[in-house]
Amino acid sequence: MARRNVALMGMHLESNSFAPVTQEEDFRRLCYMSGDDILEDIALDHPKLPLEISAFCAEMTKQDVDWTPVPIVVTAAEPGGPVEEDFFQRTKTEMERLLRAAKPLDGVFCSLHGAMTTTENDDPDGELLEMVRQVVGNAVPILTTLDLHANISERMVEMTDILIAYRTNPHVDQEARAEEAAELMIEIWNGMKPERAFIRLPLVAPSVTLLTAEGPYADLINRGQERKTNAIANVSVVAGFVYSNTPMNGIATIVTGRNDLAAAQSLALEIADLGWQERERFKKVLTPLDDAVLLAKANGEDLSRPAMIFADVADNPGGGGRGNTTWLLRAFVEADVEGCLFGVFNDPALARAAYEAGQSSRFDAIFNSETESEFSIRFEASAEVLGLHNGKCVGTRGIWAGRSLDVGPTALLKVGGVKLVVISNRKQCADPVFFEMFGLDVASARSVVVKSRGHFRAGFARYFDDAHTIEVDAPGLTSPVLGNFQFNRLPRPIYPLDQEATWVGPSW
Ligand SMILES: [Zn+2]
Repeated sequence: MARRNVALMGMHLESNSFAPVTQEEDFRRLCYMSGDDILEDIALDHPKLPLEISAFCAEMTKQDVDWTPVPIVVTAAEPGGPVEEDFFQRTKTEMERLLRAAKPLDGVFCSLHGAMTTTENDDPDGELLEMVRQVVGNAVPILTTLDLHANISERMVEMTDILIAYRTNPHVDQEARAEEAAELMIEIWNGMKPERAFIRLPLVAPSVTLLTAEGPYADLINRGQERKTNAIANVSVVAGFVYSNTPMNGIATIVTGRNDLAAAQSLALEIADLGWQERERFKKVLTPLDDAVLLAKANGEDLSRPAMIFADVADNPGGGGRGNTTWLLRAFVEADVEGCLFGVFNDPALARAAYEAGQSSRFDAIFNSETESEFSIRFEASAEVLGLHNGKCVGTRGIWAGRSLDVGPTALLKVGGVKLVVISNRKQCADPVFFEMFGLDVASARSVVVKSRGHFRAGFARYFDDAHTIEVDAPGLTSPVLGNFQFNRLPRPIYPLDQEATWVGPSW
C-alpha cells in the first residue's frame, strides 16, 4: 500500500450569539498555527493545539500506518460571540489554498468545535467541510471530531464521512475520540463504507443539565454505547449549544453504520425516542444568590461545616461569558463572607492597577472600569495586593491538565474575606492551578467561587462532590434560565421554550 497523505486541520469556536464578536486577535492569542508550526507543537510536552491533533497523529503512528501528516491550519479561540465573517473567510481561503497545494490526499482529519457562527452565517462549520469536500472529492475520507456542544447541520453530516463527538462533559475524552477517528479512517481505507443516520430533536437544554456522569443526557449517551454492535462504527449524541441561537439547534444523534444504514437508523431512532420521552428531565432549578450567600457565610463562621464550591454558571467564559460579572463578588463581600477563594475575574485594567499599586499594597479596586455593559457592572472596593504573577502556567487537573495556559498579567487581591484572582486573558476557572499559582490551597478554603458552568467539576472533583457543588442563579450571558434570552434564530416551536412543541420521528 502506498504511503498515505493525511491533511490535519481545525477551527474551534463555540459562538454565543449574545456575546461580543470574536475577532482575529482572539484566535491569534489562543491558537493559530499552520504548516510546520503544527508539527512542532505536537512534539512539545505541553502543546497549545487542541488535543485531538496530536492524539490523531499518535494513533496513526501506533497503528503502524505508513503515512505523512500534512499540516494545514489549526486555530481556536475561547468561546465568544460569532466570529467576524471576514476573518472566517480568510481562514477558509488559506485552508483551501494549502489543501489544494497538498493534493493528492488520502484523508482529511478535521478537528472542529461545531457550534461556530459568523457575523453573517449560521453554519460556518458546514461551509468549511463543504469546501474540504469540494477540494478532495468524494473518494477521500473526511473524519471530523466535534465538541459535545456542537450544533449539527445537515450539511456537516453530508460533507463528512464520519462525525465523532465527545462523550464526556466535562470534556476529558478529546484524545480518545481522535484515536477513534484514526482507527475509522484506516477502516475506510480498508473498504468500510460509513452509512450515517442523523436525527435532530426540537429540544434545547440548559448546559447545566447536560452532564455525562448522570442525568438525562448521560442516559442518552449510555444507551448509544450499550446498544452499539459490530454493525455500528460510531454513536454520537450532541447536546448542542443553545446560546448559538441557530436553526440547527437541538439535541441531535448521528449514528454511523458499517455498510449498514438500517442498523444506524434504528439505533438513532431509539436514542432520539428516549430523548424526547425524557424531555422534562432537562430542567434544572438553580440556587438563588441570596441562599448561596447564606451558605457561604455559614461556612466561613462555622468550621465544622463542609466546604462548598459555588459556580457562577451564568458568567461562564467557556460559553462566551465575559468572566467579569460582579453579582456574586459584591454579595459575598457585602455579607462579610470569610475564607473564600474566588476565581477567575477577567479584568485587564484591574490587573494593571494591581501591578501599579504593587505587591502588599492597598488600593481602591475598580471592577469593570473599562468595559461596563448590561452584565459587566462597575464595582468598587478596597483591595490588598497579595500576589502578582505573569499568568503563564501548565494545567494541573481536569480538562487542561498538561496544557500550556496563559491568562496574562494576573493579581491575587484580598477584598474583605474574599481572595480573588484577577486575570487579563479571559478563561473559565476549570483548573485549581489559577489558585495554586499563588500558593493557595483549595483544600483549606471554606468556600470557592468559580466562573465556570461545568468544566470546573473535572478540575475540582477531589475537593467537592456533587452534594457540595452549588449552581448559583445570577444574571449573565450564559444563564441556564433560557427565558432570560431573546432567541430569534432557533427552530420554533422548541422544547422547553415552547411547551407545546411536538416531534415525530423520520419516516425512513
Ligand atoms: Zn463543550
